[in-house]
Amino acid sequence: MKTKFAQGLLWIVFFLAFAPLSSAQDLGPHFKKIKDGIYVYAGVLNEANSTIILTQEGVVLIDAGQNPKATHVVAAAIKKLTSQPVRFIIHTEPHPDHIRGDFVYSPPAIVIAHDGATTSIKQSDSFSPARIEKQMSESAEMRAAFKGYRLVTPHVEYRDKMALNVGERTLELYYLKNVHSEADTAIWLPKERVLFTAASVGVKRFGNHRPLVSIPDTLSGIKMMKALNPEVVIPGHGDPGAAKILEDMEKYYNLLMEGVGAMVKAGKSLDDIKKELKIPGTEDWTGKDRYPNNIDAAYRGVTGK
Ligand SMILES: [Zn+2]
Repeated sequence: MKTKFAQGLLWIVFFLAFAPLSSAQDLGPHFKKIKDGIYVYAGVLNEANSTIILTQEGVVLIDAGQNPKATHVVAAAIKKLTSQPVRFIIHTEPHPDHIRGDFVYSPPAIVIAHDGATTSIKQSDSFSPARIEKQMSESAEMRAAFKGYRLVTPHVEYRDKMALNVGERTLELYYLKNVHSEADTAIWLPKERVLFTAASVGVKRFGNHRPLVSIPDTLSGIKMMKALNPEVVIPGHGDPGAAKILEDMEKYYNLLMEGVGAMVKAGKSLDDIKKELKIPGTEDWTGKDRYPNNIDAAYRGVTGK
């Protein structure tokens, strides 16, 4: 009996040592397993997410991570999961906190983004040598993570929508107009029912609404994404969740538009609105310094100027 027990133990040890990694815990902190073969590195406060999608024909990556240090953390996790390379990187947006680490995988990885992404990158000061040096000087680890750095711009720019078939998976890319940057992309995996929303929605967080952002267009984008009926929603920043992430943001934008609309009708100035308008349910949100530019965006939506 004792030998049988020992044999059993040996088998358990064998399985623990050689069974493929299935738990995100094995990958380190901040990794979450979303579905079989889909792992997101998420929830480092305010940092951009990066998602690993394994396929029979290599890895698809959604965004490269907050900075090259984060990119290397994700690259190490990929090595634990598969011996296959990253074949495609999809940018949800062209800002540095999503794309700076592309050079770690590309070449050979092919980078895909919406039309306008390359122009946005080339016109942005965020990719200047001075900004790179500033980020590298944050720490010795960060400087080391920049080894081999070069700016990678998208190899493929699609318009409106495209499908990417890799191995057994299909990824549908949809342009999100005027939600955050010049080139925002939602990504939908219809079989897995997983949706990537880019920065069109946040989780208890005010978005940074640049002058190009339109709240009516963002509401249209949210409506389109809700109609896909996703099971898992992965925002550009913040923890993944369910469709409630979309519903909460839709509610916030509707209240914001209604509130600003009513105050404009009552003859209030933009400054008064910024001082007086409070949106219930947002008391514990982060990024409060961005709330005034959310009001600017709603004011543009209401008044057309
Ligand atoms: Zn951004």
